[in-house]
Amino acid sequence: MKTFPIKQFSQRETPFYYYDTELLAQTLDTINTEAKKHEGFCVHYAVKANANPRILQIIAKSGLGADCVSGNEVQAALEAGFPAEKIVYAGVAKKDKEILLGIDKGIFCFNCESVEELMVIQQLAASRKKVARVAFRINPNVGAHTHANITTGLAENKFGIPMEDMEKVIMLSRDMPNIECVGLHFHIGSQILEMDDFKALSNRINELQDRLEEQGISLQNINVGGGLGIDYNNPDENPIPNFKDYFATYAECLNLRKGQKLHFELGRAVVGQMGSLIATTIYIKKGTHKEFCIIDAGMSDLIRPALYDAHHEINNISNPEGEKKVYDVVGPICESSDVFAKEYKMAETKRGDLIAIRSAGAYGEIMASQYNCRNLPVGLLTEDFRD
Ligand SMILES: *Cc1c(COP(=O)(O)O)cnc(C)c1O
Repeated sequence: MKTFPIKQFSQRETPFYYYDTELLAQTLDTINTEAKKHEGFCVHYAVKANANPRILQIIAKSGLGADCVSGNEVQAALEAGFPAEKIVYAGVAKKDKEILLGIDKGIFCFNCESVEELMVIQQLAASRKKVARVAFRINPNVGAHTHANITTGLAENKFGIPMEDMEKVIMLSRDMPNIECVGLHFHIGSQILEMDDFKALSNRINELQDRLEEQGISLQNINVGGGLGIDYNNPDENPIPNFKDYFATYAECLNLRKGQKLHFELGRAVVGQMGSLIATTIYIKKGTHKEFCIIDAGMSDLIRPALYDAHHEINNISNPEGEKKVYDVVGPICESSDVFAKEYKMAETKRGDLIAIRSAGAYGEIMASQYNCRNLPVGLLTEDFRD
């Protein structure tokens, strides 16, 4: 099992997020090494997975671009040092002031999700006497083998433009004086572990590009979104996702045209495994048939188990070698869904032990709320615990 700086942890109030920045650095190295093996591959980090400013700074320094889904994310990315020309901005409900921010800062492109949005971008770009770059988010009607709430590429979906409208919107944009259409964008879902899903997306993009080619339309950029999953069951065995196979799948299956760039927007795969939510066992409560391990972290700190039925490994890091016992691991929030794991085998724990909920670096801290008037959890880095 991974070792944690327990002694230093015990001087902090729990719960808090612990980010292993050595693992983050190794992950970023692997991404850069593997992506550079393929011509024209550009990787962006999906800021929504974890927008902790210090984490963003580390990722910006590594050279990745940023994928944003709100004006505030664009702002956070710029503040963390991501260059504007490496920022892409998606989202179905971009407001005028958010679009203006992107135009004023000169971001690389808007991933445009509807004709209605395109018209507003044209209008706002004209008001600034600028040309806005857009890529159209096309809904490829490709399913992903993942949780229903995190699949986004099926036909009836609030995201993106239907495939049959693709030529129409591209033609429309060509007549707009303040719009430059620079490519197509796709995103089929999240926590995808089957390379076949990415292969299916590649095949669909090949069909669409053939269609465009027949009409003499060529585009500079293809953006395949994110979605590469992580191994929630084995964070110690698989701390770094298989970026090699992931990029190789696209290199092999997606037929890039000459000079075209292929963009990626990875969130979870970049930051998921570096993070653990550190909590303390408050009580061991004996029920009639089971024992509850009640900890001081709850769904307000990490909502994924309650929201998606997500599994996270849980370790008793104060007594890692202890005999295994079975617990329902639950939090303090007044909701029955405030459960991290049911009938979960964990080293025996007692009041005061430190507990690590693993693989919590993505969609953890950023989704926290103050429900029950709780404090927001803080994010602490490896370097905060050096003596
Ligand atoms: C959420 C999202 C991503 C990142 O997804 P991950 O599964 O974390 O890689 C990328 N692009 C878009 C448009 C998204 O909405």
